[in-house]
Amino acid sequence: MIRKIVHIGNPALRQVAETVDSDAIHSAEIQTLIDDLIETMRDANGAGLAATQIAVHKRICVIEVKKNPRYPYKPDIPLTVLINPKVNFLTKDRINVFEGCLSVPNMRGKVDRCPEILIEALDRKGKKLSFTSKGISAGTFQHELDHLDGLIYTDRMSDSSSLTTLEEFAEHYEDDFKRQVISIVDLYGS
Ligand code: ZN
Repeated sequence: MIRKIVHIGNPALRQVAETVDSDAIHSAEIQTLIDDLIETMRDANGAGLAATQIAVHKRICVIEVKKNPRYPYKPDIPLTVLINPKVNFLTKDRINVFEGCLSVPNMRGKVDRCPEILIEALDRKGKKLSFTSKGISAGTFQHELDHLDGLIYTDRMSDSSSLTTLEEFAEHYEDDFKRQVISIVDLYGS
């Protein structure tokens, strides 16, 4: 079922989500929630969606990038379901890239992200996942994990003057952003 995505200003986005009990992962409630997150993310052409964004306070998020029309330059990420995810930064380097969010309609802003991370989580079968992610994709994962802690990308902006509407982004920043993404993909492989 497609669920309603809440927008910035809704207190639900500021709530820290609760850890999912591993015994509950196989329940119909959690499995349906995961299906709904995937369906809602795809319907909205999102690169990811956290349960927080549909006002459900459980530590679950889904990520998928497949020739995304909202983010045509993003490297593909296969559908990934993360339950109780944890992130470890593997480098002190940071990349400063534009992000958008389904909960912040029509806006983009530049955020510092770690370009090499290790993610540990459970998948929808309760199996342990451990994988590294780099470059632009690493930023996508950090964005979704932040939602589970009640954080929005605007909280991560070191310079709020980069905040822009999509229309102004297309006119003033998109060309540079495309070049930047290509150079990050060259450097980090994703
Ligand atoms: Zn978001």
